[in-house]
Amino acid sequence: MNKAIKKVVIVGGGTAGWLTAGVIAAEHNSASELGLQITLIESPEVKSIGVGEGTWPTMRETLDKIGIDETDLFRECEASFKQGSKLCKWVTGEDDDYYYHPFVLPQGYTKTDLIFPWQKHREKIAFADAVSYQGRICEQGRAPKLISTPQYAGIANYAYHLDAVKLGHFLQKHCIEKLGVTHVVDHVTEINSTDDGDIASVTTKNNGAVVGDLFIDCSGLSSMLLGQHFNIPFISKKHILFNDTALAVQVPYSDDHSPIASHTISTAQSSGWIWDIGLPSRRGVGYVYSSEHTNEVAAEVELRDYIEASIGKVEADKLTVRKINFNPGHREKFWHKNCVAIGMSSGFLEPLEASALVLVELAAAKISREMPATRETMDIVSKRYNKQFLYRWERIIDFLKLHYILTKRTDSNYWRDNCNPETIPESLQELMALWKHTPPGPQDFHHVEEIFPSSSWQYILYGMGFETQESELSRKFINEELAHQFFTENEQLTQKYLSALPSNRELIDKIKQYGLHKI
Ligand SMILES: Cc1cc2nc3c(=O)[nH]c(=O)nc-3n(C[C@H](O)[C@H](O)[C@H](O)COP(=O)(O)OP(=O)(O)OC[C@H]3O[C@@H](n4cnc5c(N)ncnc54)[C@H](O)[C@@H]3O)c2cc1C
Repeated sequence: MNKAIKKVVIVGGGTAGWLTAGVIAAEHNSASELGLQITLIESPEVKSIGVGEGTWPTMRETLDKIGIDETDLFRECEASFKQGSKLCKWVTGEDDDYYYHPFVLPQGYTKTDLIFPWQKHREKIAFADAVSYQGRICEQGRAPKLISTPQYAGIANYAYHLDAVKLGHFLQKHCIEKLGVTHVVDHVTEINSTDDGDIASVTTKNNGAVVGDLFIDCSGLSSMLLGQHFNIPFISKKHILFNDTALAVQVPYSDDHSPIASHTISTAQSSGWIWDIGLPSRRGVGYVYSSEHTNEVAAEVELRDYIEASIGKVEADKLTVRKINFNPGHREKFWHKNCVAIGMSSGFLEPLEASALVLVELAAAKISREMPATRETMDIVSKRYNKQFLYRWERIIDFLKLHYILTKRTDSNYWRDNCNPETIPESLQELMALWKHTPPGPQDFHHVEEIFPSSSWQYILYGMGFETQESELSRKFINEELAHQFFTENEQLTQKYLSALPSNRELIDKIKQYGLHKI
């Protein structure tokens, strides 16, 4: 039990495996002989999932920490800026139905309540536009910064859209060449236990046994270590979040100068929604749907209709669609004995708010920060880890479900079923009851490092048309004058940024040509 933790073995070389390797190797000096040794085993027989193009703003800090140059990211990973999501047709399904979930916090967010003063004008201005400039910047296709803004800094908060396969290769090269990660390209065939049930080593087809002190399962949906070897049960969430299938396709632009959207466009369909992500050389588009509410043929028709609207039938007919099945849910726990699962091996929920990679980043950071010195303390660390990550999965489930339950759409069983109270977690029902009278705020989400701050819940709630009722109590803390100062400030910032910020494509081209300044 007093054995020092010196060797970490990661099984899986998808985005989860390489991000985890990078975070731990950078923090634990793996490039030096005295640092923690990290070996990543990647099967040549099992491809990584190859999707996952939308990220959360945390990705900037993660990449910066592991020593990646932001200019290289743009040059090598087909990166573009993402400033939030535009959710179309989620409320009424009509053509003019949309709202934004931007990344910037509302202007004056922690200073005063903005909800009640805004609600008086809700017919004239959308909540996101009243409190944030970012939706309007996105509508104009603007970038979140200037070429003179240093790398990883932003005028507006931002994340990235990326080519997932290119990101994997890019991280792999960086981890091997700069961070001292040992890469074994081989297929793991067996898992070997110690007398007390820990994993002692994994057997590979051509490189024999690879021993380790801590094993990180990044083997994707097969969950080879945590799921298959340890039999940690899978908790399905399909009764809450119905989507279980995706049809993905890469869509060309009509020409090299076509605008690149500065946000993910998520358009609701009859039985799910379509993501539309703009990369510099193509769009990544996909329909995430519930197989209980539609079938593959009908879903593909809807997807092709969507694509045809932008590139025409002739071009759309040439595209090949890839089908991906997934089971929404997560493992009962994530760290068991000396094995912790990160990425798809720990679970997956539909990609509506790009919550998968942010969970990978948070998991890698926590494991790295709290890396047990010896096996003796590992069970304490794992207990804390499991508690915190269960909380995170539950919050993500509530947050994703929030997008569905306020719809006014009744055009298909999918939308009707989504509003059935039996499909809404009790925790979310309780929050909705509280928010009838008090807007969401930090009091509702009290953990440090909440993935979705209370402002995100506000953007969805009021974007979907929810109304919080004023009461005698709430009236006491409304400061209309101060709120209106913030609305005015926001309007001024909107005009300023609209006139100063370049287009997304213009800035990306410039970054590729000249590079961003390092601080
Ligand atoms: C349709 C869809 C859209 C998504 N969109 C987003 C998004 O926009 N944003 C986001 O954050 N996330 C998104 N995700 C999730 C995201 O794709 C994943 O979280 C991310 O790619 C990490 O995957 P992974 O590394 O866990 O698994 P994988 O990419 O599947 O990698 C598994 C690795 O394990 C290896 N492996 C498997 N078996 C063995 C073995 N026996 N021996 C050795 N190695 C083995 C494989 O070779 C591979 O390298 C999406 C997922 C889906 C399904």
